Parts: sequence; C-alpha cells; structure tokens
Amino acid sequence: MSAPLLRLENLTKRFGAGTAVDAVSLDLAASEFFCLLGPSGCGKSTLLRLIAGFEAPSSGAIRLGDQDLAALPAHRRPVNMMFQSYALFPHMSVGRNVAYGLDGLVAGRAATAERVAALLRLVRLEGFADRAPATLSGGQRQRVALARALAREPRVLLLDEPMAALDRTLREETQAELRALQRRLATTFVVVTHDPAEAMTLADRIGVMDRGRLVQVGRPADLYRRPATRFVAGLLGDVNLIPGRLGAEEPGPHRSIESVVGPLLARAPDAPLSAGADIVLAVRPEDLSLSGEGVPGTLVEETFLGDRTRRVVRLADGTCLRATTAPGEGAPAVGEAVAVRFAPDAATILPA
Ligand code: ATP
Repeated sequence: MSAPLLRLENLTKRFGAGTAVDAVSLDLAASEFFCLLGPSGCGKSTLLRLIAGFEAPSSGAIRLGDQDLAALPAHRRPVNMMFQSYALFPHMSVGRNVAYGLDGLVAGRAATAERVAALLRLVRLEGFADRAPATLSGGQRQRVALARALAREPRVLLLDEPMAALDRTLREETQAELRALQRRLATTFVVVTHDPAEAMTLADRIGVMDRGRLVQVGRPADLYRRPATRFVAGLLGDVNLIPGRLGAEEPGPHRSIESVVGPLLARAPDAPLSAGADIVLAVRPEDLSLSGEGVPGTLVEETFLGDRTRRVVRLADGTCLRATTAPGEGAPAVGEAVAVRFAPDAATILPA
C-alpha cells in the first residue's frame, strides 16, 4: 500500500471492565472501500465512533495523513458518519436536511441551493428538495442521509449498517449504487455490517472483528479462500471442518494430515504450526467432488436448490460432509456409495 490515508495504531477502548475495541491496528488507503464485519457486540460501531471522534480512545492513536485526529473534536475532523437510523430532521425538507450538512461551508442562498442540487443529483434525487422526509421511501431516505453526510466532502465517510433499514431486494440494488457512488467520488468509505454477503459485495478489503479484536484483514476472495481461523472460515460461508493432526514438515506446497477420516493432503498452512499439532481442515462444499477416487462414504441427503444441488455424504467414521455441485452432473442417488475428494490446494489447515 502507498502511504495510508487513515492509520489506527493499537487502538483500545474500554468501558468499565469490558474491552469493546482491543489493540486494533489498521491502515486504510485513499479511496478504499473497507468493510468492518463481525457479529453483534464485537466492537464495530465503537471503532467507527472512535474514528469519528464520538468516543475517546483508552489508548492508541488515530492518524489521517500526518495529522493526529485525537487532538481534534468530532466536528473538526475531515471525517463524517452516516447513522443506521439516518437521523434526518423530520420537520425540515430534504433540501434543508442536506444544506444542514454543509454547516456554513457555502455562503449565500443561491450558492447553497446550487450545492444542495448537486448533492441531490449525486444520489439521484433531483427534484426532491422540497419534499418532507416522511414522504420518502426507505431507500430514498437513505440517499438523503448519504447526500447530507457527503456535503462537506469528508476524506473518510463512516457508515454504520447503512442497509439495515432496507428490505432485501432494495438492499441489493442499494449496495450496487453505494459501490458506484464510492468509485465516482474516490472517497474512503468504512462500512460496518454484520452481513458477510454484503461485505463481500461492497468491499475492496474486509476487516473481520471478533470480541474487540481485528482477527483478519484482506480482500474478500482471500478471506474466503485463505481464512486464518475457524471463526473467519465459518463467517464467510458454509465450510466443512475435518479435525486431524498435522504431519511432518515436507518439501513442496502441501502437508499431509492424519485426519479422522483418514490420511489427507492439504496446502501448507500460513500459520506457524508444528508437526503433530491439532488442526482442522477447512474445505468449502463447492470444492468437494463426488466422482472418481476418494474417501468412501454414502450419500445420505440431497437438496435441490435450483442453480446447485447440496449433498450430504456420511463417511465410515460417521463424519458428514456437505458438497455443492451444479445440478445434473452424473448424480448418484441417495443411499448409494460415493467417494469424496478435494484438491489439496482447496483445503486450508487451521489451528484447532
Ligand atoms: P452491533 O452490531 O450489535 O451494533 P457492534 O459490533 O457494533 O454491535 P459495539 O456497539 O461496538 O458492537 O459494542 C461493543 C461492546 O462494547 C458491547 O459489549 C457493548 O455492550 C459495549 N459498549 C458499547 N458502547 C458502550 C458504552 N457506551 N458503555 C458501555 N459499554 C458499551
């Protein structure tokens, strides 16, 4: 990464005995779309609020370029936040809500009206300036909040669960729009979400949080293909976890595993794990194949899902593995003997 725009250094926030954000270090690039992903209560919103300046860190630093943000109150930071609830003023028109975001940046009525019109155009709400927020749909309200948050051209826009109030179909459409808008503006966006699919759709990079800690940061495909922990593997999609013990160090890209279903081969681990360590092998259902040579088992369940079929295979030791395949591929029937295999490169060795 070239010089980062935003740098978090060992950022910690404690509330009484609890630690909401625990020693988080992170560099964000200019014009990056970053998603903070994690379950409820993991500290995502607190991290956003620290960057925005609504909370003071217990320790650690926040820098924007060469500026120390801790020294600046929230309203002086070149950062803005869009809240989950949008927080529009119900008694003000759409135009006045957006003008409020300008906060004295533009002088004069004509110049203000021009800037408001430009912001409403940006979020595709031309002609909505005189409407009351109550007369808008959820998606339109979100776009007013977005226009207001962008009014002062922040260097970093923080969005806390921006899709939470929208229904599912609208959410997908809005995700595409938000992504396109961010590309056009080239502003750094940090979006908090607990929805893995949303994070993968939106983000250049995802930071996964668990109990206050940033456990892995990477591009969506890298997190999906090379999760660092079982938690990340399971968060980003369905995964088979096969317990085992790591074999001796060997030359080449693969390591042997003594697993509960027999000897297997997998990609050498990224983490420093010694021979004999208890591990789990993570294999995505779409990477399992049920044809040719492999570990013998019985097909016990089949679910037709339209674009794919999900099958469950029970192996001799009782382990059940899920496999998804395109429908209509030389399919065995439920009750028949099958053999399960996967390419060593599709299997990730993780600490148990
Ligand atoms: P959600 O997705 O549910 O909003 P989150 O990941 O954003 O969750 P936070 O809101 O950051 O999580 O909360 C992290 C932890 O810090 C929680 O245990 C929460 O109860 C605690 N916490 C947050 N704000 C405060 C506060 N002002 N006082 C005390 N504890 C707090």
